[in-house]
Amino acid sequence: MRRKAAETGDLCYGAVVVKNGVIIGWAPSSVIVNRDPMAQVGMEAIRDASAGVLVSTSRSCPMCEGGGYYASIERIYAANTVDGITNAGQPQMTYYR
Ligand SMILES: [Zn+2]
Repeated sequence: MRRKAAETGDLCYGAVVVKNGVIIGWAPSSVIVNRDPMAQVGMEAIRDASAGVLVSTSRSCPMCEGGGYYASIERIYAANTVDGITNAGQPQMTYYR
């Protein structure tokens, strides 16, 4: 997903929702391409999922964490820290500071 997002010119983020070992939701970032700040990977991945585990390329933002709560996501895993993403040049993560 991360590569797919980058290939389209979007931010290098992606996420999946896994339930019982099966991917039931997934999304590359489409925030830039669709000019939709709500189209973040966490929100898009849980759109068709209920329950399960959210796995994201980075720490989820407060909106995606809240969406996970309302979608009954059991746990959220992140492949990168806020500092790691910020140091990689993703300025939108600065709201955690
Ligand atoms: Zn988010």
